[in-house]
Amino acid sequence: MDGSELQRRLKEVGFYRGRIDGILGPLSVQAIAAFLLHGHVSAPQSWTKARRVLAAKQLVCRTEGIETGPIDGLMGPQTAYAFRVYAYRHTGGPSPFLPDRDSTPPNPEPATAPPLWPRQAQVDAVFGGMGVHQVRLHLPFPMQLSWDRTKPVTSFFVHEKVHDSARRCFERIADAYDAAARRETGIAIFGGCLNVRRMRGGSAWSMHSWGIAIDFDPERNGLNSNRANARLARADCLTFWKIWEDEGWVSLGRTRDFDWMHVQAARL
Ligand SMILES: [Zn+2]
Repeated sequence: MDGSELQRRLKEVGFYRGRIDGILGPLSVQAIAAFLLHGHVSAPQSWTKARRVLAAKQLVCRTEGIETGPIDGLMGPQTAYAFRVYAYRHTGGPSPFLPDRDSTPPNPEPATAPPLWPRQAQVDAVFGGMGVHQVRLHLPFPMQLSWDRTKPVTSFFVHEKVHDSARRCFERIADAYDAAARRETGIAIFGGCLNVRRMRGGSAWSMHSWGIAIDFDPERNGLNSNRANARLARADCLTFWKIWEDEGWVSLGRTRDFDWMHVQAARL
């Protein structure tokens, strides 16, 4: 979103009366201040002009439902993502749901070949020790913590080797399901990822111990769930599962008809 685009948006909502020339002079600065105030964003005196401008752009994204994270005037990964979505919608930018060519090395594998994840018995050989090599996965949309719905989850730890694949999945999920659909299906309810523990009802280590399994909406997709009663077994979740399966991830629900909350980057 460049300066002209911001001016255009500020004009639309009645805060800017100057020319659309991309030059952020006093009229624009005034409009930005009014816009932030109107959006209940407290912009401290210490913020630079550049930071206020960025905050205004974040607020523009938020007003049209693009998840941009906190309106803080800082260019974090969530904001970068929001701006890509905005550019895609409004100014003919590339799809934000594909890897960013500038920051991601070209994938030598054709897009149709999913990563081949190890079998469960070989995960320690491939992923190393339990609970290590973890990196933060930033989500393209906020999730809610299952056991405390007031807690937004904007990122969580995953194994570094599954990070890029999981990120691609979440980006495609964001594309396929809007906020209402994510709420309805429970896709936006986070039930945990990294957790060094034994499998429930077994003695082997859970795939969660390596940060290569993710649980969604555990309340409605329990360990004893099945096709008949699991929320994630319904038809409106089929795309969700196809997205994971395109990347080689395995759903215990889809393959074994239990534990419908769970998807993992390991074969059975
Ligand atoms: Zn699980």
